[in-house]
This record gives sequence, C-alpha cells and structure tokens, in this order.
Amino acid sequence: MLDFWYKESPPFPKDHKDFWRTRLIAHSLLITTSYFLVLTLLNLFYFQSYDIALIDALGLFVSLGIYVGFNKSTNVNAAAWAVTLMVCGLIILFIISVGGHAHSLFWATLIPPFAFFLVGRNWGSLLSAVAFIVCAYLVYLQQLQTITIGLGSLFNVIEVSLAHILIFRFYEKTRFSAYNRLSIRNLEIQQLAETDKLTGLYNRQKFDFELSKLIANNANSTTDNANIVLICDIDHFKNINDTYGHLVGDNVLTGFAKILKEKLTNNALIARWGGEEFTIILSNTCLSDSVEQANELREYIAKNTITNIALTISIGLATVQKDDTVLKLLERADKALYKAKNNGRNKVSVSDNNCVITANSAQPSGPITQA
Ligand code: GH3
Ligand code: MG
Ligand code: MG
Repeated sequence: MLDFWYKESPPFPKDHKDFWRTRLIAHSLLITTSYFLVLTLLNLFYFQSYDIALIDALGLFVSLGIYVGFNKSTNVNAAAWAVTLMVCGLIILFIISVGGHAHSLFWATLIPPFAFFLVGRNWGSLLSAVAFIVCAYLVYLQQLQTITIGLGSLFNVIEVSLAHILIFRFYEKTRFSAYNRLSIRNLEIQQLAETDKLTGLYNRQKFDFELSKLIANNANSTTDNANIVLICDIDHFKNINDTYGHLVGDNVLTGFAKILKEKLTNNALIARWGGEEFTIILSNTCLSDSVEQANELREYIAKNTITNIALTISIGLATVQKDDTVLKLLERADKALYKAKNNGRNKVSVSDNNCVITANSAQPSGPITQA
C-alpha cells in the first residue's frame, strides 16, 4: 500500500545489523524531502519569500540527492553520515538563525538519538557535544541580554544535554553489545543446525538446502559446466560394527569424513547423508573429471586403511538436469549407487541420464558402470 512511499533498498533481512539503520535513513530522507517540497512551494507561491524558498529548494535537492544516491549505491555507512550531517547541520543552523528563541532548542534533542543510532557511539558523542555547546552558548548569550532566560535555565540546558549524551551513549552501547552477542549465538546455532555431530561435516538438512539452491541456479544457468551429485556408501559397514563394535565404527566414519575433505576438491560440498552414506556436490565441473575424482577416492580407500581397518566404498553419480528436483536427482544418484553395489561393490557408477560420459571425457581410470 505504501509502495509509492518506501522501497526497501538494500533489502536486508530483519535480523541484519543494518536493517533498522537503512529504514531510518530512507524514512528520514523521504520526510525531509517532502517537508522541503511543501516549504518551497509555500514560500514560493503563498508567502512569496523567494530567498527562503531558495534555501528550502536547496534542502529539497540535498535530501532527494542523498536518497537517490543511497538507492543506487546501497552504501549504508555513506548514507548514514550524509543524513546525520544533513539533519544535525539543519537543526544547528536553524537554532542559530533564531538565536535559540521560540523554544527552538527543543529541536536539538533530536540530535543525540539520530547521531548515536546512525554513526555510532564515538561520533554520536562528538556531534551531540557540538550541538550541546552551540545550545549552551545561545542560552548564555540570551542570559547576557537578560531577555528571557536566567542562569538556572543555562544549567538546565547543560544538565539535560549531558544526561542526553550519557543515556544515548549507554543505550547505543547496550544495543550494540546485545546485537553482537545475538549474532554470535545465531551463528553457533546455525552451525549446530547444519552440522553432523559425529563427523563435523554438513548434515542432510544443509545438503538438501544447498542442493535445492544449486538446482534453482542451474535452471537459469547458461554455462556448459555441470553440477554433479555423488552418493558414497561404505561397503559392508555393518560387518565393521559387528566385528569391532560401534565405537570403532564411529571412528571409521570420522576418519572417512577426514579423507573426503582431504581428497576432494576445495569447492566440494560434503555432507553425511545418514549412517555410512555420504553425499557430495561437485559444482562447475564436468562429468569425466567428477568420475575421475570418484575413482581416485575409491582407489585410495581400497588401498589404505582407516583406523587399521581395510574397507571399500561404492559411489553413484548423477548430473543436475534443467528440470530436476532434489528428490529426482538423489533418486538417480541412488540408483547408480545401487548398480555399483550390485556389480560387486568397490565401484563407481553413473546414472543413465548422463550419457555424455564418453562424449566429453577421457576414459575414467577405474571400474565404472552405467546405471
Ligand atoms: P552395503 O555394502 O550394502 O552398504 O552394506 P552395509 O553393511 O554397509 O549397509 P547396511 O545398510 O546393511 O548397514 C549400515 C550400518 O551402518 C547399519 C548401522 O548400524 C550402521 N550405522 C549407521 N549409523 C551409524 C553410526 O553413526 N555409527 C556406527 N558405528 N554405525 C552406524
Ligand atoms: Mg554401506
Ligand atoms: Mg548404506
């Protein structure tokens, strides 16, 4: 409904540290723009005070200019400074121009909340102090002229201004540290939610999420590079548990996860899918390279031991297709894995749909079948 008034830009999520700062900046600029537009028109056509209309028009263009610049650059810090300087400058100029009369000092109370919130504790303190000195000086001048304000008023202004600065400083500090603590806690919780406790790899939930993102991006992608999913399953793992016990089985899983991280390319996304099954995304690659990597891994495992236990693995591969879903893709990779198992285990197998394998690849080095 308020689309004409406010467009969220940049569109930060609500828990982003700049979400509210961005809102304050945008709303302040829209309000000052509208305010100066009305004043310009009034002074131009009703009061016919052309000098003042010119100053108002200047204010109008400055606030509109900052607003447009902010929307284009999305630089929150620069906009925060521009708005703070504009608002503080306008208020101080106004107060000076009326010599602090007509309760104009009330306007100065807007400076600390603005400055602290937009440019932080230190600059907020400095700008508030400047405003406070200006106000105190104006009151002092009035006191000299013995017009309306006495010494008691001067002390009131000083005390209230100091209290203002201290309170807003304290408020900003607590807001800042609470936000920081929350951000750290959120990160920890997020990490817990997407990590497999035993191996430290991503868990199934995180893998599904990343895979669905990849599938969505792949649908719009124009490159020839492929994204490949691997399901990797330890052969006869139950025998290891039965022979050596579950704790040793756990150590084998942890050791295997470590090898996966060491042996696969840096950009591989590796997750523990469940039990002794691991899923991997190799993005921006080609099928032949992925098959080669899978075979190297398979051979490495077959030739070495993990915690002194010899074992083999079977791997199924499938390429992300344009119209894929997480379910369809994993089903194809799982079918390929099933085929590798049926062919005697310690094999790499590629899903049916990926018939490009011989077209763009050197022949893979190990046993490979097509599911
Ligand atoms: P296949 O070659 O057909 O894959 O045979 P397999 O024995 O590896 O597969 P199966 O599905 O029969 O057995 C998987 C075993 O993995 C059974 C389960 O007890 C064990 N397992 C699952 N999660 C864990 C775990 O966290 N720790 C341990 N130690 N074992 C686990
Ligand atoms: Mg298994
Ligand atoms: Mg299994």
